[in-house]
Amino acid sequence: MNFELTEEQIMIRQAARDYAQRELIQDVLERDNKAIFPEKHIKNLAELGFMGMMVEPEYDGPGMDTVSYVLAMEELSKVDASTSVILSVNNSLVCYGLQKYGSEEQKEKYLKPLARGDYLGAFLLSEPEAGSDATSQRTTAIDMGDHYLVNGTKNWITSASHADVYILIAQTHPEKEHYGINALIVDSKSAGISLGPHEDKMGMRSSDTHSVMFTDVKVPMENRIGEDGFGFIFAMQALEAGRIGIAAQALGIAAGALERAVAYAKERKAFGTQIANHQAIAFKLAEMDLKVENARNLCLKAAWLKDNKMDFRKASAFAKLYCADIAMEVTTDAVQIHGGYGYVKEYHVERLMREAKLTQIYEGTSEIQKIVISRKLLQD
Ligand SMILES: Cc1cc2nc3c(=O)[nH]c(=O)nc-3n(C[C@H](O)[C@H](O)[C@H](O)COP(=O)(O)OP(=O)(O)OC[C@H]3O[C@@H](n4cnc5c(N)ncnc54)[C@H](O)[C@@H]3O)c2cc1C
Repeated sequence: MNFELTEEQIMIRQAARDYAQRELIQDVLERDNKAIFPEKHIKNLAELGFMGMMVEPEYDGPGMDTVSYVLAMEELSKVDASTSVILSVNNSLVCYGLQKYGSEEQKEKYLKPLARGDYLGAFLLSEPEAGSDATSQRTTAIDMGDHYLVNGTKNWITSASHADVYILIAQTHPEKEHYGINALIVDSKSAGISLGPHEDKMGMRSSDTHSVMFTDVKVPMENRIGEDGFGFIFAMQALEAGRIGIAAQALGIAAGALERAVAYAKERKAFGTQIANHQAIAFKLAEMDLKVENARNLCLKAAWLKDNKMDFRKASAFAKLYCADIAMEVTTDAVQIHGGYGYVKEYHVERLMREAKLTQIYEGTSEIQKIVISRKLLQD
């Protein structure tokens, strides 16, 4: 087995680390406080090739591998998971599926500008009554011959008010249940689309989240991805790949909290010595370090399987479940190690703890990951 990264992967990780530690860090507290969208950073990250990392050069992407994506997500998420989720949605939920299943015309018109960062993408699956149970889609896309007529409401949509392109999942043939669902590419400025209010969230406050309402929205027939009825499989495949990105995000949040806890434990004194010299703190740090290392290994294994065209579905569920759960544990411990200072915003760890919570919820809750894993285990 070879655990070594390639020179290119090391360079990509360094570029992400430099950007996060020099640029993202500067305004992260203000953006979190005031829920300001990181417009400037998304532009800069696009210039670094991070908005469509795995898109092939023929579609204007840098053609990086999934391992590099994990490395970049970890570094950015150590500092600011609000920015990394915008990047993750664009990379995994939007570009991945378009590259794999889009027609040449769709790739030319949408994938290329998405990969360059000229467009931003959003993924519209969840509804008020369809979260974990994504099969119960109520948004309808009625076949009108040359276009679909879309009506319904999508909930919790990341980047909804900044995205140019929506990948919309909607029901065309209710009698066929989830085999009647389609995935459509929708111009976010289309007539009949309106947004609900900005969600005032616990964490990841500078990524914007809205519900999106569709009233008689016309979507050209050529904007359907794949065959009629392929939409549910398309969405599940996008989520299976997307889980690797969110797992890496959770890993980064945990790793960022660990770095801060180590630095603080070496600096803060109590009872005449650095708190790191108290075994209770040193052992806590050792356990946090072990969890972060296990999380990193699970993420990299899932990414490696995907890069080598092997079945990564169980591995990505393992990574998402474990990384999200340990992110919650490690960030909570980091707050504890900071004592009272951990409870105020200036020290960042309370923000990392708020960010960690979301990784247990979106792109499949921790309970849903256990369903995926146990089904696979019992089938094999
Ligand atoms: C900030 C944010 C951003 C998001 N971004 C997007 C986005 O860009 N696009 C998008 O489509 N969606 C997005 N989501 C939606 C997210 O994916 C859903 O919130 C998530 O899938 C859970 O669905 P739900 O909220 O309806 O919870 P529910 O499905 O109602 O679940 C409630 C609880 O019940 C549990 N549960 C449900 N079913 C089972 C079961 N069978 N067995 C055991 N436990 C179960 C769940 O695990 C959870 O604990 C986002 C959500 C948030 C909060």
